[in-house]
Amino acid sequence: MSFRLANRAGEAVLLDGGDYWGLGVDPMDALTRNDELHHRWANRGTPDGQVSPADLGPPVPDPKQVFAYGLNYRDHVEEMDEVDYLGRTTSEAPVVFTKFPDCLVGPGAPVKLVGDQCDYECELVAVMGAESRDVDQAQAWDRVAGLMIGQDISDRALQVAATPPQFNLGKSRESFGPTGPALVSPDLVDNPDDLAISCRINGEVRQSSRTSYLMRPVAEIVSYLSAILTLHPGDLIFTGTPGGVGHAQGLYLKPGDVILSEIEGLGALENSCI
Ligand code: ZN
Repeated sequence: MSFRLANRAGEAVLLDGGDYWGLGVDPMDALTRNDELHHRWANRGTPDGQVSPADLGPPVPDPKQVFAYGLNYRDHVEEMDEVDYLGRTTSEAPVVFTKFPDCLVGPGAPVKLVGDQCDYECELVAVMGAESRDVDQAQAWDRVAGLMIGQDISDRALQVAATPPQFNLGKSRESFGPTGPALVSPDLVDNPDDLAISCRINGEVRQSSRTSYLMRPVAEIVSYLSAILTLHPGDLIFTGTPGGVGHAQGLYLKPGDVILSEIEGLGALENSCI
């Protein structure tokens, strides 16, 4: 089932490079129509026009649930623990929080900084394509509609303001969830479990890893979550960020900074900070 699905002014479109093909339906409807998308992708013919990533909205604009899996790359666990010695490296229980869906924005949207401890986290985002409950790992990928790039922008000060810390609000400020540019079906990447992932700030490489270093890969997270609750079509799972975040280096985002997030086969997101 091949497709690259994007959101052009609220309409689902197929996207190939800068070319688009309008589908005449809402993006949330489109992602449940795998067979139709595949057929349209295979027979897409002459494009309807051209679009730049900056003109696109989030590929999945209105998910019912957005999960974010924390501390899923070992180098990130270690760098965060060096800041405050909270013993994260000894925790075996998954760290899962939410980004409230209203924080989602498109691939070229500005990130609106608040305070002086906002941080970047480039992440692989898996999008559910089917209602899923008690899915075992072997079947998990069949329930995933596609993959996209996400930025789990984080207000570190707000993230730890309460005792015990509650991540959800510090990860959900307005514009703190850039995603896109397109939702890419898993068959269109070489190996969905091993993709190069990187983040540059003003051209400087801050994060560079591979998704094969995920301690809990996509199938395991889908299985874990679906054992607790029902996953719905369009639900997003941010899978965690590799080492190199600003918090570990005292390098927080500043107005004017340009965040370039890239994942092999999924394209790039470029978001400016204001
Ligand atoms: Zn994150």
